[in-house]
Amino acid sequence: MLDDLIEVGCLVAGDWRGGGTRLARHGPWVRRDVSTARQADGTDVRAALAYARHGAKAVARLSPAARAAVLERAAATATERRDALARLLALELGKPVKDGRGEIDRVADTFAVCAAEARRIGGEVLPVAGWARGVGTTAFTHRAPVGVTLAITPFNAPANLLAHKLGAAFAAGNTTIVKPPPQAPAASTAIVALLLDAGMPPEAVQVLHGDGRLGGELCAAPEVGVISFTGSVSTGAAVARAAGAKRLVMELGGNAATIVCEDADIGLAARTCAATGYSNSGQSCISVQRVYVHRDRYEEFVEVFTGEVKKLTVGDPLDPATDVGSMVDDGAAERVVGWVAEAAASGATVTTGGHRDGATVAPTVVASPPPDARLIRDEVFGAAVSVLPYDDFDAVVATCNDSRYGLQAGLFTNDVRRIVTAWRELEVGGLVVNGSSNFRLDHVPFGGVKDSGFGRESPRWMIDDYTVVKTLMLRGM
Ligand code: NAD
Repeated sequence: MLDDLIEVGCLVAGDWRGGGTRLARHGPWVRRDVSTARQADGTDVRAALAYARHGAKAVARLSPAARAAVLERAAATATERRDALARLLALELGKPVKDGRGEIDRVADTFAVCAAEARRIGGEVLPVAGWARGVGTTAFTHRAPVGVTLAITPFNAPANLLAHKLGAAFAAGNTTIVKPPPQAPAASTAIVALLLDAGMPPEAVQVLHGDGRLGGELCAAPEVGVISFTGSVSTGAAVARAAGAKRLVMELGGNAATIVCEDADIGLAARTCAATGYSNSGQSCISVQRVYVHRDRYEEFVEVFTGEVKKLTVGDPLDPATDVGSMVDDGAAERVVGWVAEAAASGATVTTGGHRDGATVAPTVVASPPPDARLIRDEVFGAAVSVLPYDDFDAVVATCNDSRYGLQAGLFTNDVRRIVTAWRELEVGGLVVNGSSNFRLDHVPFGGVKDSGFGRESPRWMIDDYTVVKTLMLRGM
């Protein structure tokens, strides 16, 4: 089984197209090719866009009840296939099966929420008679599907992020063209396959594998009505340039901060940051990256946190006991240890880790890096967490905000004044209290401010992005 090479095709107009030019995915832990994907050619792209425009009408005509039933079956199917899907994530990405199973549990939740939201899409009767010109008219709104949506996903959570985009687009009655990340073609394709097996009609989804050039071509296509993009800031900017005046949902990068106040439960904060700073080797947009600890508790936190990090089991992602597997490739791991070495050369203390074996970065704790270190200013997206002391709460909020990013933050305190201040003042899309930045519920709005993007990826809010308000005015009634 381990030696199987998984071959995936492009899904165009209801047919899986194999052959053609194929790109192999080299598993970063198993260190061999694990999958190959047909790369979409010009004929595939033209056919997919034409079919999408044509097929959109058929999807829009499906009742919300029918769409919800498909999504509910998809939730059950995801749960049935959980172990196989987690294994694919481990092979293609080096993601521990523990994390992969967690991601697939969330896929099931996401589809279930999409099913519930499909049933809730409604409209309004507008009170137009309050204005003289409206007297004698009755006005209504409803939410009409946009038509064709484009889903571009990143490598780090290729299953659940695709479930969000595809599930919400279908719940709202749209068709979707999926452009998966080249690092996870088989895992992404398996999510589409499970939806088809659950009864999603072929008109609702197509898959085109390829690199950024294909992504750019699809973003520019006039057939596409909405682009939902998750990825890095620089790619997001390229998407926006190619998209022109299209509606965009942008979920981009971050350098998430977590604040630990002097009244915090240090054990809880340390255990939580250790569990959520290194899951998926830190390759999450809200992974714990900067931890600011009140100076009175700083040394205690560094010691307890380092102890917790040392307890993490590093190794084979296919082993259910593993906490930390490999990063997406050797180059990413080299970048992270390079940034750690730079910070150490500038006076920071590496209390554990700081080295790599292939694509696996040993879970790393960096105490007191300089504020201008790349570990602080840029997105680490790897298994290195920095810890810094602070003296004043208002000042540390300003320090957290001194970033181009703003996705989510964590705060450990039971002081209501600080909780409310942080909620009001932190420039982020969400705040987690007595948890780290790295916590997400799939039915709660999620998204960023500043360079972290805009839009809120959660089915209820995504359905707003995937629909247009359409009015009906009845004169003389
Ligand atoms: P990436 O930007 O390199 O790639 C993302 C996707 O965009 C891939 O499918 C890629 O092939 C495609 N792409 C590349 N160039 C393109 C172009 N010119 N036009 C259209 N598409 C193009 O990102 P990645 O390395 O796969 O993922 C990591 C990034 O994603 C991190 O910055 C992370 O923070 C971010 N992310 C954000 C969220 C969120 O919800 N905010 C969630 C997960 C990941």
